[in-house]
Amino acid sequence: MRLSDIPHTRAGRHVLHHPDVEALGPDVAVNVIRLVEEYARRVSISDIPPITFTGPGWDRPWDQIRDLSPCSGNAGSSCEEFRWGEDYRGLALTLPIRALRADEDPHRQDLEGTIAHEIVHLRWWNLQHGPEFWARTIALLEGAIFPPHSSWSAPTRKVVTEARAATKAWRDRTPCRA
Ligand SMILES: [Zn+2]
Repeated sequence: MRLSDIPHTRAGRHVLHHPDVEALGPDVAVNVIRLVEEYARRVSISDIPPITFTGPGWDRPWDQIRDLSPCSGNAGSSCEEFRWGEDYRGLALTLPIRALRADEDPHRQDLEGTIAHEIVHLRWWNLQHGPEFWARTIALLEGAIFPPHSSWSAPTRKVVTEARAATKAWRDRTPCRA
């Protein structure tokens, strides 16, 4: 199957692919786009990749899925790239419906937390999962703004510092995880 053959929804400048459901549920597209655009703005990304909703559940209304946790995601080069071709640069989101997994990250893992996590991958593609990765995700969820090149503002430095401390505390509580 080619990318253009899978079920998709056009919404403004976005093409939303949803290979496992025929149609997205009420208010899902508008809310996911709102969150992705908000977090992309906070990290100064203007080039938002195609969004893919993988797995089941995306045909349910937004208010039934917004708080499900832990969701998972994928960004940039990924298994999606092999599925849909070399040019694929995606942002994939999966609801915790098909396979439950343990919480793996010290930040919110509902859809908003997952989107923030994937946006951190897109913004800092060479930053591996770890304390600094999580600190930036937490800071982003707290509203930090990361400019494209210039140094971080005092409020952003403050919230990142607090998030690093929170991440360290989480690691100290769960030493075998990461
Ligand atoms: Zn990740």
